[in-house]
Amino acid sequence: MNILERYHAMDYGPAPEARGEADAWMNARNLGKSLFIAGEWRAASSGKTFDVSEPSSGKLLAKIAEANAADVDAAVAAARKALPRWRAKSGYERARVLYAIGRAMQRHQRLLAVLESIDNGKPIRESRDIDVPLAIRHFLHHAGWAQALDREFPGHEPVGVVGQVIPWNFPLLMLAWKIAPALAAGCTVVLKPAEFTPLTAILFAEICERAGVPKGVVNIVQGGPEAGAAIVNHPDIDKIAFTGSSEVGKIIRKATAGSGKKLSLELGGKSPFMVFEDADLDSAVEGLVDGIWFNQGQVCCAGSRLLVQEGIADALIAKVKTRMGRLRVGQPLDKNTDIGPLVDRTQLDRVRGLIAEGARQGAQCWQPDNALPETGYFHLPTLATGVSPANILAQEEVFGPVLAVMTFRNTDEAIELANNTRFGLAASVWSENINLAVHVAPQLKAGVVWINGTNMFDASSGFGGYRESGFGREGGKEGMYEYLVSKLPYGPVVKPAEKPGLGEVDEAGAPAIDRTAKLFIGGKQVRPDGNYSYPVLDRKGRLAGEAGLGNRKDIRDAVAAARSSKGWPDATAYNRSQVLYYLAENLSARAAEFVARLSSLTGASAKSAQAEFDLSVERLFYYAGMADKFEGRVHTPPARAVTLALHEPVGVLGIVLPSEAPLLAFVSLVAPALATGNNVVVVPSQKHPLVATDLYQVIETSDVPAGAVNIVTGRVAELAPVLAKHDDLDGLWLIADADLCRMAEAESVGNLKRVWTGNGRTLDWSSDAAAGETFLRRGIEVKNVWVPYGD
Ligand code: NAD
Repeated sequence: MNILERYHAMDYGPAPEARGEADAWMNARNLGKSLFIAGEWRAASSGKTFDVSEPSSGKLLAKIAEANAADVDAAVAAARKALPRWRAKSGYERARVLYAIGRAMQRHQRLLAVLESIDNGKPIRESRDIDVPLAIRHFLHHAGWAQALDREFPGHEPVGVVGQVIPWNFPLLMLAWKIAPALAAGCTVVLKPAEFTPLTAILFAEICERAGVPKGVVNIVQGGPEAGAAIVNHPDIDKIAFTGSSEVGKIIRKATAGSGKKLSLELGGKSPFMVFEDADLDSAVEGLVDGIWFNQGQVCCAGSRLLVQEGIADALIAKVKTRMGRLRVGQPLDKNTDIGPLVDRTQLDRVRGLIAEGARQGAQCWQPDNALPETGYFHLPTLATGVSPANILAQEEVFGPVLAVMTFRNTDEAIELANNTRFGLAASVWSENINLAVHVAPQLKAGVVWINGTNMFDASSGFGGYRESGFGREGGKEGMYEYLVSKLPYGPVVKPAEKPGLGEVDEAGAPAIDRTAKLFIGGKQVRPDGNYSYPVLDRKGRLAGEAGLGNRKDIRDAVAAARSSKGWPDATAYNRSQVLYYLAENLSARAAEFVARLSSLTGASAKSAQAEFDLSVERLFYYAGMADKFEGRVHTPPARAVTLALHEPVGVLGIVLPSEAPLLAFVSLVAPALATGNNVVVVPSQKHPLVATDLYQVIETSDVPAGAVNIVTGRVAELAPVLAKHDDLDGLWLIADADLCRMAEAESVGNLKRVWTGNGRTLDWSSDAAAGETFLRRGIEVKNVWVPYGD
């Protein structure tokens, strides 16, 4: 045998990581007493336990205490009790605790990694080099936010007691993403790990004890959906932070509707991995291995859809197949293993079922001939070609080692295919042409975009989704806001708007001209679809005019007009700023007319009508000025990359307005939405719609692109539900009565639009705090684009 032959004949020997310490750790404690509540270790009040098995063998690993609603009650009570003292601590004191947690985790780094691999099945190389270091980094990074809280987040306070529910794919990392920002913000937590993977959270609770976390600040309850639902529905919890499937995310959105709980949802994905013809194919193949076979493909942001440019498809697929043949499927604790077992038999069955269905729908599913261990929930890496865009493997999250391939001809088609999904978590773009990559990234509906890379994460850079991948961010400054509330100047409770058109109308003295205001859709004044109008009364109950009675069809037309209008979102920030200044200028020119209108409709004195008008113009000026200043950031994560945290508009926003301060409320919500580049569909005050309809001419003469502002007057109680249910609306802001606010949140589940309500209260619109960054932040999504550098 010559050297070359010897080289080719070489194979990997076993390189197992020792598990003795992890086994000793499990044996040394009573895991039936593993609820960590108020700083004590407790058994479940029911005495129940659940079994946890080892994915690599299917053998029983541990019996873990199973919390029920009573245990969750006790944990919430402990968190509530601990809250005042924890939030009263100085930022520096909290920073010391977070730092101590990070340091203690470093000391237990190896044990955490081995336990994680035993419990979840992930290869030790991943838990050791990725999960655990990233989790530690999260605590160390957030120690800084804890100390900087007052300076960096003025006008904010901790949201309170937080309920957190996490999945099994990154048990420790997801725990870190949840607990670190919560503690930094001054919140106390009740966290539930997933029922498949409870172990590292137990070790983490021990670390909290040693790191000096005060009793009750961190509570960890174990169990399944029953305990999860008890957290979600608990009346004494102020915020729910959930990571898991979109299906359960939607249940939680519905369950928390109207409760006033703050909510963040980090859900599933079907992320595109896009390879353009000028990409470095060998790098792209390595990226793909990481993108789809990292953690057996059980990754929310897995690059599970390979979109490849036609001319290079055959070459790339050939390289991918060769590489797949070399992936080592084996024991998670072996340092040579690339792919471990799936987490559980149920997951294995689900993956097999989806592959079979994908094949039934026409996909060709190919697997390499690699050896598989005899026991455990192992699955070969799988490549599906001939996948039509509607195939289940192109649309559904498989959450397993399955890659679906599709081809595209040009850039526009690539972007269209990439966005052809209800999800919007991540995307990976491969091209050696940086101009092309940076041109594509902003057009992708995804919270994270990696250029010539994949699966890069860091505590400094936010992570989270668009669309049905959920809302809220973890990491970055934006992640801290999820655990803070801004002190908004809430006003009185909003009463349900009366049905218009009822009651006595005194026509005496009404001028006999046609004064029916139309709707404003797509830049034109249009008659309402139903051709009905409703009487609008002045402060004395006399007919002041008539307003169009918009219906479901009008809302649909307005959303369609807003969706198809590109002029505003594509305009430069400077251009938007100029147009908002024109609006303010043109409004100023009509001061006398608007002041008289406000006064006659609302009964405000001339002086207070003038004050409302002046403040409205001032606020428009402010948002005009902010349109080109509320910008993103650049992060420098510990990688050879910069992260561009871009502010992108949410998209098409519905805005439902209350009756008081009709001009100022309109400006206070519509102006920040426009300043951040959104197109809007506004349902103005039902009682005083004429203030909004008087604005048509101002809008028409201010260079606002057609479709950027659409106004539909009518019954708020009828129009708001249509907006809430509309699947092509990206967000809804609603100041209305409590029932309508609850309805809007509950009905938003179709596409998980971002809903922001006053929870049945209005705002004191004249307060300084009714303008500012809080409102601008509601108008944006933060997209993190990772741009690598170096050879
Ligand atoms: P899952 O939704 O089934 O469960 C997640 C958690 O919710 C578990 O702790 C579970 O016990 C609990 N739960 C289940 N039903 C519940 C209910 N009705 N009420 C309250 N809690 C309930 O998801 P999974 O199978 O554990 O995890 C996989 C999913 O997580 C995938 O869809 C994946 O994409 C997603 N994920 C998302 C991210 C992200 O950051 N976007 C990160 C990791 C995983």
